[in-house]
Amino acid sequence: MRTYKVVVLGAGGVGKSALTVRFVRDVFVENYDPTIEEEYRRTVTVDDQLSSLEVLDTAGAEQFTSLNEVYIKSGMGFVLVFSLTQEATLKEVDNLRKQIYRIKGGDTTVPIVIVGTKLDLVNEREVPRATIQSLCNRWDLAFYETSAKRNWHVAEVFEDLLRQMRTRYPET
Ligand code: GDP
Ligand code: MG
Repeated sequence: MRTYKVVVLGAGGVGKSALTVRFVRDVFVENYDPTIEEEYRRTVTVDDQLSSLEVLDTAGAEQFTSLNEVYIKSGMGFVLVFSLTQEATLKEVDNLRKQIYRIKGGDTTVPIVIVGTKLDLVNEREVPRATIQSLCNRWDLAFYETSAKRNWHVAEVFEDLLRQMRTRYPET
């Protein structure tokens, strides 16, 4: 069975840990320690094929760090997370996206999925779907609106990324 290394990146407090833990443990953690950086592993069957995912939930500071650079070098696929309730966190996604392409030597086939979190907080929503849609069209990247709390569309994120990684890194 093939193992794929996934790195979850995004601004602090957007819900990276909640999303990751929902996917790997199927629970919602309300108050995950924001400083904890942890690597999780789970197997998943997509398109009748079993794969192993190693998911690194990063916990860097607000700005891009040299540690991020190390993670990006070793990562095969990336989940770029922002909060639908905080428009400013989209900026960090764009920044990370550019850093990934730079670090991967301009390779634009790097598997990436954009994720807007906290979809359940309807009344606090700041980012309209149309805004994300047009950005992701321009970036040519897939995006999902999710809720780790309600377990909405979380699995789809990792399934999409796994399909991209299988295509990008074919077994020889
Ligand atoms: P991180 O710093 O990006 O890892 O963010 P966390 O996963 O620690 O989440 C930050 C805060 O947002 C916590 O209080 C979480 O309970 C909350 N949160 C994360 N995801 C969701 C979600 O889908 N819905 C709601 N309502 N709150 C969420
Ligand atoms: Mg966290």
